[in-house]
Amino acid sequence: MAWCLVFMVFLIYCLISTVGLPVEPADEVAMRLGGGGGRLSVEPSDVMEASRDFGGLKQGEPMAVFHPRGEGDVAALVRAAYGSERGIRVSARGHGHSISGQAQVPGGVVVDMSHGWRAEAARRAAPGALPVYSAALGGHYIDVWGGELWIDVLNRTLSHGGLAPRSWTDYLYLSVGGTLSNAGISGQTFHHGPQISNVYELDVVTGKGEVVTCSEAINPDLFFGALGGLGQLGIITRARIALELAPHRVRWIRALYSNFTEFTVDQERLIALHGSRRFDYVEGFVVAAEGLINNWRSSFFSPQNPVKLSSLKHHSGVLYCLEVTKNYDDSTAGTVDQEVEELLGELSFIPGTVFTTDLPYVDFLDRVHMAELKLRDKGMWEVPHPWLNLLVPASRIADFDRGVFRGVLGSRTAGGPILIYPMNKQK
Ligand SMILES: Cc1cc2nc3c(=O)[nH]c(=O)nc-3n(C[C@H](O)[C@H](O)[C@H](O)COP(=O)(O)OP(=O)(O)OC[C@H]3O[C@@H](n4cnc5c(N)ncnc54)[C@H](O)[C@@H]3O)c2cc1C
Repeated sequence: MAWCLVFMVFLIYCLISTVGLPVEPADEVAMRLGGGGGRLSVEPSDVMEASRDFGGLKQGEPMAVFHPRGEGDVAALVRAAYGSERGIRVSARGHGHSISGQAQVPGGVVVDMSHGWRAEAARRAAPGALPVYSAALGGHYIDVWGGELWIDVLNRTLSHGGLAPRSWTDYLYLSVGGTLSNAGISGQTFHHGPQISNVYELDVVTGKGEVVTCSEAINPDLFFGALGGLGQLGIITRARIALELAPHRVRWIRALYSNFTEFTVDQERLIALHGSRRFDYVEGFVVAAEGLINNWRSSFFSPQNPVKLSSLKHHSGVLYCLEVTKNYDDSTAGTVDQEVEELLGELSFIPGTVFTTDLPYVDFLDRVHMAELKLRDKGMWEVPHPWLNLLVPASRIADFDRGVFRGVLGSRTAGGPILIYPMNKQK
């Protein structure tokens, strides 16, 4: 089984930068744009906002920020940049939650796909913008604007037929274009694949400013290039996202391990299960510092069952926390306890360390936002975030544990979250 598995280790996100061409003054850009739509801004507040990102590690000041009202405006801006003899660098910015300046373009023009103009742009790019059933695709989908936030997509689809996208990131205040330019990974990835595997079609503004529709069947090179393309192959203005009927509630369970092999064997076992006899979400995290288990995204569990690491009988340094969920609704509420018990019965966590909570599906999906609000209150959200994402083959994950989790991190008394996503490579 090991060959088809890969562990996503989330230490600090680190992705690659955006399109680059040399610079020219903002008034020339405005002239090239002519009297078309959109707004080219050189206001210091706009420029400053586009110079920064969530990572807080890099700062690159653009000459201007472009606020499009829709796809045509994005295309006009890119055409203006492409047509310029001296060249104008252009970068799409979704919600600016990159870590390392990926959406920045020093001296160029940042296309603000998200703030302010989002609603209008969404209306123009996807008229009606309601979920649609397609017999050919065998399910529902929705067309969304590339700058729309996933939380807004969720709220919209839920209010129309109780539908929701199938594959998620842990945090929903990210733009569709931003996560589709990377991968979009969470605990559902082992089953549904990352978000980029749950898209039927895109509209992309290419580097020449042409709007091209692409899918697996039409312009597949552009489709597969733009998905996970780090913003280098054009600007995604519309994405057709696969939907499913959303469950109503989630049983959310955590269990602790002191043995890394037992932890990963159980993760692998869980992501190999098919059909309805499986968990819907499988993730995990490393607990290298006292306090983390109760503080990171865990307000849903405390204070009824806080964990004191030092009180654990088998604890000798680093612990590993398996995190799983089982979705259910009224028709399956009667059997969820038994299903969860059976699935947990096959696992090797430390006896007595199972922590369970039950909450609406939306609250589960939006769980990191709760942590965000708390961190914002403490002034801890807008600090630098030197995060890193690594894909580690299953064959080397034990070495990684020895060297990094227990070797480097085990000796520290404080630290940030370290998430472990087990994934099936073929998804
Ligand atoms: C708190 C937090 C939690 C996270 N959790 C997860 C997680 O669970 N799983 C996961 O996979 N990732 C996660 N991420 C990482 C996140 O998915 C990426 O950083 C993502 O790029 C951020 O989206 P954004 O809209 O803020 O993008 P931006 O930072 O604005 O842009 C990111 C990149 O995408 C490009 N881009 C943006 N919009 C478009 C577009 N419309 N067309 C083409 N290119 C575009 C930009 O040029 C840039 O290269 C998390 C990030 C944070 C801050």
